[in-house]
Amino acid sequence: MTAETLFYIIVAILIINFTKDKILNAINAKHFNDSIPRELSDVYDKNEYIKSQAYKATNYRFGIWSSLFSLVLTLAFLFLDGFEYVDNIAHSYSDNPIIIGLIFFGIIMIGSDIITTPFAYYKTFVIEEKFGFNKTTKKTFVLDKLKGLLMMVILGGGIIALIIWFYQATGNQFWLFAWGIVTVFTIFMNMFYSRLVVPLFNKQTPLEDGELRNKISSYAESVGFNLEKIFIIDGSKRSTKANAYFSGFGSEKRVTLYDTLVNDLDDEEIVAVLAHEVGHYKKKHIIFNLVTSILITGITLYILSVFISNPLLSNAVGVETASFHVGLIAFGLLYSPISELTGLVMNHVSRVFEYQADNYAKKTYKSGPMISALKKLSKNSLSNLTPHRAYVYVHYSHPTLLDRVKNLKSSKKTN
Ligand SMILES: [Zn+2]
Repeated sequence: MTAETLFYIIVAILIINFTKDKILNAINAKHFNDSIPRELSDVYDKNEYIKSQAYKATNYRFGIWSSLFSLVLTLAFLFLDGFEYVDNIAHSYSDNPIIIGLIFFGIIMIGSDIITTPFAYYKTFVIEEKFGFNKTTKKTFVLDKLKGLLMMVILGGGIIALIIWFYQATGNQFWLFAWGIVTVFTIFMNMFYSRLVVPLFNKQTPLEDGELRNKISSYAESVGFNLEKIFIIDGSKRSTKANAYFSGFGSEKRVTLYDTLVNDLDDEEIVAVLAHEVGHYKKKHIIFNLVTSILITGITLYILSVFISNPLLSNAVGVETASFHVGLIAFGLLYSPISELTGLVMNHVSRVFEYQADNYAKKTYKSGPMISALKKLSKNSLSNLTPHRAYVYVHYSHPTLLDRVKNLKSSKKTN
């Protein structure tokens, strides 16, 4: 194996992945105008349906241009020895591998952030605006960017620095220490995400006493679930789209509802959505996802440790002086087909979990309000009612609305 072969393998991976995505998107787009299944005939009225068709088409076109742009840019960067250029800059400031690594990733991250920002801006202020979803002000957009960048510098920089340091200190054993620190960080973030990160971006207020709270409490009691911490988040600050999620575990577990969700749904529908979230918790999906992601991280870091000291990795992306940080970039590119595969498996598992959570809501509460909640949420986000199977298989972490409605309506025994 020569560095040149490896370089062309990386180029092939990038092009094949891009082509695969474009084919899937095109297949999916061909079915945008399929007739709506009978079960979903009440989701949209005529005007909303026309609007949803336009929304799908607009996003499809935007996806083609933005991904083509990023492919061309990545290839140009590779062919013009961009990594070598950035690595030289980093070397000109320091001899310390940690500092060099931080400057190297800093330039690449900030550079790619600057390049992708116009696309994010267009998506928010042109597309989402046109279809009435956008509530983000320019000020919020800029502040979000800055806060996100600051978090990336502190957390990302901290983790990168530690990993390079472990590599300096322990050689190929570094993966065990890196795995340990990433695991601690993942668990910590899972526990305290709502308490530490969310407040930087949103306001959260406890759900106030009243009819809704009583209904939720009496449901929670009926399934023996301690649901003290229910928070309303000001999602309407950015978009009219609604959501709800569960986070943390043990004494830190809490449910967060978007204010948009509380406005769009009636009380029974909100309780049904909460029952679904409780289902995720009771069926141990949260713990499963956490443990699986920790295991996958461990395996990936181990494989990284096998290859990282080989200078071919750095040479493959055009860098003469082999180093850990450049090797990491090359490894990331070469490893992407495997992460695509693990992504497929995780999406499949996630869809199975969604059915289980829906079934839990059906069994412990009611299926009617769950169905109408799902329909309202789909309508309010103008979602695609006729996605293609292949597209769903690859990209959907949730079953389609049609599949979920059919499952909720079916009388077959569930567990
Ligand atoms: Zn779910």
